[in-house]
Amino acid sequence: MQTPVICWFRQDLRLRDNPALSAALETGNAIVCVYIHDKNSAEKWSAGAASQWWLHHSLNSLQQSLSAMGGRLILRQGNTLDELAALIADTHASGLYFARLYEPHHISLEKDINRAFKDRLNIRRFKGYLLCEPEDIKTAGGEPYKVFTPYYKNCLQHLNPGIPCPPAGRLNTYTGKLASDQLDDWQLTPARPDWSSGFHECWQPGESGARRHLKNFITHAAGKYELLRNRPDITGTSRLSPHLHFGEISPRQIWHAIKHSPVGLSKGAQAYLREIIWREFSYHLLFHWPAFPERPFKRQFENFPWVKNAKYLRAWQQGRTGYPVIDAGMRELWHSGWMHNRVRMIVASFLVKDLMIPWQEGEKWFWDTLIDADLASNSASWQWVAGCGADAAPYFRIFNPVLQGGKFDPNGDYVRQWVPELKKLPAKYIHSPWLCPDRILRAANVTLGDNYPCPVIDHQTARDRALSAYEKIKIANR
Ligand code: FAD
Repeated sequence: MQTPVICWFRQDLRLRDNPALSAALETGNAIVCVYIHDKNSAEKWSAGAASQWWLHHSLNSLQQSLSAMGGRLILRQGNTLDELAALIADTHASGLYFARLYEPHHISLEKDINRAFKDRLNIRRFKGYLLCEPEDIKTAGGEPYKVFTPYYKNCLQHLNPGIPCPPAGRLNTYTGKLASDQLDDWQLTPARPDWSSGFHECWQPGESGARRHLKNFITHAAGKYELLRNRPDITGTSRLSPHLHFGEISPRQIWHAIKHSPVGLSKGAQAYLREIIWREFSYHLLFHWPAFPERPFKRQFENFPWVKNAKYLRAWQQGRTGYPVIDAGMRELWHSGWMHNRVRMIVASFLVKDLMIPWQEGEKWFWDTLIDADLASNSASWQWVAGCGADAAPYFRIFNPVLQGGKFDPNGDYVRQWVPELKKLPAKYIHSPWLCPDRILRAANVTLGDNYPCPVIDHQTARDRALSAYEKIKIANR
């Protein structure tokens, strides 16, 4: 009797271009598809509330796609090693196939799995989460890169992602009896209160949602990406980040689809590839410096005089800072689980530079509230903004929320969408309501300090304070 092969799904919740699944199918053996919910394996980086919502719906979608192909997704909850050991014992599986991941806890789990099972069955680990493996891109001296541009150039030279695997046909599913949890039992979605209605409005987790977003992006925005990508008031980016994080689409599928579309290798497509390579660079950093999510890459920042201020932190989290573009971003995040990249940079700069709150606080909040929360991209981006990361933004770059708002949301439509109490303000004052004459405020039904807050801090004063703190640690480290 042929023994089955276990196809272990993790952050590759898709059937198309899934090299582990394709290889399992090629064996001709029966397949056991499994997802293991191991709440404790990531320790402090276990999935946040928004990610759990996404995971629930993504698994639901994968279950449906698998059953349409005659397959079944076994759901198990518990310690991954124990669950895999039980599954291997119950099925007498001859193979364990899965996709490689790069977060420190995944790396150590993969090592443990290899140690525990390598003598019992054939373990095969596949690429696919990234376009380039972190070990393959090195400086001339054989070191990992710390600076993006040379890393990017090197990546372009190595870039050869190949053609996506063909869609799987019917699945030869293992028919033996196997216990499986019910997805609802995992309680990944919020109940009391249910804050996810905005998520449902904005997102369709799963492979077909990912393909739909990609198609829309190619049709409407990819060709002009380099012009539109900084405008939060326009849908000018792909919004593929949660789909990429959960592996509902591979970077190779995206790249292949764009390359073979009418957008081809236009300026827009190249600018887009550069952003995908920022994702690769974040993984490169996390792989080579696994402490990235917790500790500043530039160690002198361990002594930075951060300020602990619960009141300011709460105002930032709730979108009540009195700076409209910041408040719009934070409310967009709360409602939809996502925020435009330009606005992420502005709100992050405000938290760490204007309010001088440690970047780890912002990282934690994003981790809990973003549907695309990703250990590599989140930590690399927060450190980049704070100025303590690899190839970080220079310390003197402190975004002015009024100027940034005026530049990237020139008519104020983004602010009006997310901060409805300012809806009637004219564009001239929408990013700085405190400069608006009383008469116009009254006509717009805005009472500062009442139905919209006054600025929690004066930007110019905050800027001077941050610059002097950054100067001090620079001098101390000379
Ligand atoms: P597009 O503009 O369409 O870009 C395509 C893809 O490229 C994205 O889906 C994403 O996978 C990747 N990408 C784009 N910009 C970046 C970037 N700067 N760094 C890394 N990858 C990038 N992205 C996450 O996926 N998860 C996070 O947890 C995350 N946290 C962030 C925190 C801060 C403070 C900042 C400033 C940025 C963060 N980003 C994060 C990066 C970026 O904001 C999002 O990837 C992007 O906004 C997603 O929207 P999109 O899919 O429309 O992007």
